[in-house]
Amino acid sequence: MIEISSKDTLYMYNLYHITKAFFPNEEIRQNVDDGQEPLVRLVLEGGSCFSIPADEAGHSPDRQEIKRHVTKLTYDYLSSMTGRNLAWGMLTGVRPTKLAMQKLEAGMSEEEVIRFLVDTYGVSPSKARLGCEIADCEKKLLKRLDCKNGYSLYVGIPFCPSICSYCSFGSSPLDRWEDRMDLYMDALCREVSAIGKAAKGRKLNTIYIGGGTPTTLNAEQLERLLSLLEKEFSFDDLLEFTVEAGRPDSITAEKLEVLARHPVTRISVNPQTMQQKTLDAVGRRHSVQDVKDVFRLARTLGFKNINMDLIAGLPGENAADMRDTLRQIEGLGPDSLTVHSLAIKRAAKFGQENRKIDLHSEIAQMMEESAAAAERMGLLPYYLYRQKNIAGNFENVGYAKVDKAGIYNILIMEEKQTILAAGAGASTKIVLPEKITLENGRQTSLVRIENVKDIAEYIGRIDEMIERKGEWLWR
Ligand code: SF4
Repeated sequence: MIEISSKDTLYMYNLYHITKAFFPNEEIRQNVDDGQEPLVRLVLEGGSCFSIPADEAGHSPDRQEIKRHVTKLTYDYLSSMTGRNLAWGMLTGVRPTKLAMQKLEAGMSEEEVIRFLVDTYGVSPSKARLGCEIADCEKKLLKRLDCKNGYSLYVGIPFCPSICSYCSFGSSPLDRWEDRMDLYMDALCREVSAIGKAAKGRKLNTIYIGGGTPTTLNAEQLERLLSLLEKEFSFDDLLEFTVEAGRPDSITAEKLEVLARHPVTRISVNPQTMQQKTLDAVGRRHSVQDVKDVFRLARTLGFKNINMDLIAGLPGENAADMRDTLRQIEGLGPDSLTVHSLAIKRAAKFGQENRKIDLHSEIAQMMEESAAAAERMGLLPYYLYRQKNIAGNFENVGYAKVDKAGIYNILIMEEKQTILAAGAGASTKIVLPEKITLENGRQTSLVRIENVKDIAEYIGRIDEMIERKGEWLWR
């Protein structure tokens, strides 16, 4: 057990995540006590103790600067204690490329941004270069969009054929909803239509149908949804239309034919691993052969932009397994590849079983071999994000062929364009033309409006889900 106590809640988030990154499998107890003497105290397993005196906060009016200073002192202590540096240094956020992008937009050269990330945040030079390269690539891709007048649309299908043990999305198993699916479709279609009407005259740049697994919808339901989108929205400015087909055990020729009849430009067929023993162990009810069959079927039906997702660090896998998975993926030749490092979240079955992340050293190797395989396939890194409790404190990286990058993925990371979202658990993000002050005093130009996650509640409260977006739209 590790104990962190702090005089001020301001430091707690960073301290927790930095400590967790060094000790991913330790339980951490947190306590805020404004009467304690040191600003921060950290007691490690075995009794080693580190504290930062109250006067370290100084008199700077910039609380963010003080927070950075306290985080840096703690990072340096943990780094010297363990003899390890973290790949992303003291950066705890999920969007390291956003910081690189801000600095590039402020006029820094790529080399200056790399130096800034290394010197200020302790990021390793190779990760700083990767973050910077990706930010630069994102910048070029985003130039194709009208961020101010345009928007993107997300449609969520929160069902899956079965729930994978590592997944924390809160998706529902299809068999629990199969006979009530039309109720969900009715509510979803109402919300989609309402968004279409509210957005008339604006430029729709990307559509992403995600989940869950959108291909849990049957062919008629898919047809209903895609026809509605074509009826309610103008596709004149549409640059990308993704349907995350996802699980091979939900994809049929009939469903792919429906997608092919509509202007879908990009799909995902996601194996996560090409090791059968692992697929079985994590509750994915499909075979390695299913992945290959569905991928080839999609190619035969004319899909020219297919993404595949992999996860490094799945239980029982080592670098040799990943190497074999990558060899099989190279045999298929996807247009983009997204490689995630396993993150164990509390909401996932793994989290509830209190599974521990292991194999840190091999995850580094898996990520390196994935980057090399992507390069051999002609795929370049184009987006990157991190998660909390991510294995080995690594990252998730998207690689794509030139012109096959998922623009929506970049928009989600960089938060430069409004994303209107429909469906249970879907989150609308409105990018305002200028900053506003919220009730808690925080200034922001990004407003999030979350739909309720519970599917029955979403259906029952659909009018409210529609109405509460209205007040923020196109201010
Ligand atoms: S298919 Fe995807 S969304 Fe569904 S449970 Fe598995 S990981 Fe989660």
